[in-house]
Amino acid sequence: MHGDGNGWTWCAHGHRHWGVHGAAGLMVRSLDAHGEPRILMQHRASWTAHGDTWGLPGGARDSHESPHEAALREAAEETGIVGGSVQLVDELVDDHGGWSYVTVVAQAPHLLAVRLNAESEALRWVREALVDQLRLHPGFARTWPRLRALGRAG
Ligand SMILES: [Zn+2]
Repeated sequence: MHGDGNGWTWCAHGHRHWGVHGAAGLMVRSLDAHGEPRILMQHRASWTAHGDTWGLPGGARDSHESPHEAALREAAEETGIVGGSVQLVDELVDDHGGWSYVTVVAQAPHLLAVRLNAESEALRWVREALVDQLRLHPGFARTWPRLRALGRAG
């Protein structure tokens, strides 16, 4: 049922996580007009989990959803980007034991126009080289080095 993944849970590492069935996000990468890789980053609203940090659009998985479905639904809600406008190239599973965050890695043909919803303070196509200078969501920060390598391969 829609929204049945919303809620807090704990993983085997003792972290508190949002998403009782796990969570998923979408990393969209594209090249700008200078051929520089950029990542679509979300400045999370202060009231969200780990608010006022930068991360990827994403959120809790519903019980009936695959990680891909959840990532694309959340991205559509939070950015206006729909699955058909990007090419899925890879995924990264961050398995915490009893809880996981799946990041779907996608390539966009150009820097797509985006629109905000209430969960974001801002959405920005950030130069890949500058991503780790932002105040990052801790979960995203842990996986960013691996995600960066995947994006490059794709
Ligand atoms: Zn954890």
